[in-house]
Amino acid sequence: MKALVFKGVKNVKLADVPEPKITSASDAVIKVESAAICGSDMHVFHGRETGIDVGTTMGHEFSGSVIEVGDNISKFKPGDRVISPFTVNCGECFFCKKNLTARCVKSALYGWVEQGIGLQGVHAEYVRVPMADSTLIELPKELSWTEGNLLADIASTGYFGAEMAEIKDSDVCVVIGCGPVGIMAIKAAVYLGAKTIFAIDQFDFRLNLAQKQGAIPVNYSKEQSLERIKKKTSYRGADCVIEAVGSKSSMHTAFELLRPGGILASVGVQAFDKLPFSPQEMYDKNITFKAGRCSSRYYAEKLIPLVQNKTLDLSDVVTHTFSLDDGEEAYRFFDEEKDKCLKVTLTN
Ligand SMILES: [Zn+2]
Ligand SMILES: [Zn+2]
Repeated sequence: MKALVFKGVKNVKLADVPEPKITSASDAVIKVESAAICGSDMHVFHGRETGIDVGTTMGHEFSGSVIEVGDNISKFKPGDRVISPFTVNCGECFFCKKNLTARCVKSALYGWVEQGIGLQGVHAEYVRVPMADSTLIELPKELSWTEGNLLADIASTGYFGAEMAEIKDSDVCVVIGCGPVGIMAIKAAVYLGAKTIFAIDQFDFRLNLAQKQGAIPVNYSKEQSLERIKKKTSYRGADCVIEAVGSKSSMHTAFELLRPGGILASVGVQAFDKLPFSPQEMYDKNITFKAGRCSSRYYAEKLIPLVQNKTLDLSDVVTHTFSLDDGEEAYRFFDEEKDKCLKVTLTN
């Protein structure tokens, strides 16, 4: 089958790879109907995340149809429309029972094979899903394949950020980074009742979309975000900041913008090893710092009804669609942020 495989830094190639097979009674094989390229795929693409084997199929965001199931699968059958969180989970361990499926003791991330161990990715025609009964979620027929793959990661991750920020009705909330996750965090913050939302980014086309959601756009390359937000809060700072970039400078900005006693919720994939603020500074500001990978098994299920009843609109996030055959170009396109590109999907 066709798949986009990692060949080295800035080198993703369309290749012919073996079709996945059922290897355990709890597996399912899914035909990928729609997949998406994620900002975190770019960490692999640029070699910021190391250790992945050359030849690994890329990607972790997808929706699809069940093709085949193992003997122990009772909830799904061939033909079912499904989505999968970007990590698989057992449904039985301590963490799964606490809805912290991202930290399942048997967790594995699609598109991550290291020294021969791990899961192949979803930028392919087919994918094997282990622990399919506890991992997969039925995709209702009213939801599109694209809405499905957005729920698998970015919609869930954005909502998770807003939930971690403990938004209350009167809150002044800041979202740093208006990529797909940041835009989803803004939508979630609106839904959860934030009174004022500032959206920070350097690209006007992203800020325009943030503004359409109800946020106040702040282009940090053109104006002082700190001054603007402090003025709005009688120089206290924001009640909460959702950090959706994952860089040292955005974490520093997040800390600076927060008021004493505020909450910093970070969902950006962090690719550096030291926080740009000290324990003493955290103590002196009484801040709460939360971070981590989204348990999208839990959040996707929670958000499906909100997408069904149109409370949560996922229609304006995907800006470009490529066929899997044109996947190499799609990676380059997304990487270079061409043509006001926000989110790229791949169809089979
Ligand atoms: Zn992702
Ligand atoms: Zn588990």
